[in-house]
Amino acid sequence: MARYSDSSCRLCRREGDTLFLKGTRCYTDKCAFKRRAQIPGQHGKDRMMRKQTGYEVQLRAKQKVRRIYGVLERQFEKYYDMASAMPGNTGTNLLHLLETRLDNVVFRMGFGLSRQQARMWVTQGHFQVNDHKVDIPSFRVRPGDTITVRESSKLRKQLKDLMEKTSGKEMSAWLEVDRDALKGKFVALPERSQLDQKIQESLIVEYYSR
Ligand code: SF4
Repeated sequence: MARYSDSSCRLCRREGDTLFLKGTRCYTDKCAFKRRAQIPGQHGKDRMMRKQTGYEVQLRAKQKVRRIYGVLERQFEKYYDMASAMPGNTGTNLLHLLETRLDNVVFRMGFGLSRQQARMWVTQGHFQVNDHKVDIPSFRVRPGDTITVRESSKLRKQLKDLMEKTSGKEMSAWLEVDRDALKGKFVALPERSQLDQKIQESLIVEYYSR
């Protein structure tokens, strides 16, 4: 399975924003973006000063979302095609498709400090959806589905500790999580207003509609 293997922090610096790709480190002073908020490369500073063209603004909006959810280019294009074929607003449909990926839901439920970690654990087969083992990170979770850490998973102890440590963390409103049972329910699709307001999905639609 193809995946991005370069530094995650480089991606934040390229997009000029904190994308929170590395878990707890992102909230500390060790965050590379906080220490050096500049596009990587020799001419990064100059590129930051330059005014972006309309195309560049659209491209960056797309790349930012793709990187937040850790999706490769071709897969993102497929999501866009699916979103535009669905009834309703294409941008919102796209965000729903990304939000319902199993790796994202596992991360949102707190069973992982980052989407990257959640994806690795899904691939290793630590989770089940509606009592069936699923190890495909892109698996589409539907409203009403239950995600559980498998009884046989070696991660249970580690995840119980993690859930205790993060017990004060607010859970996404469209999810229900039983921290003790290491179980969660995807209750409903989130409203657009509940998702990251910095995401500009209309620019992504413009990018693909060129
Ligand atoms: Fe981005 Fe996190 Fe790295 Fe900071 S620590 S640059 S938020 S991935």
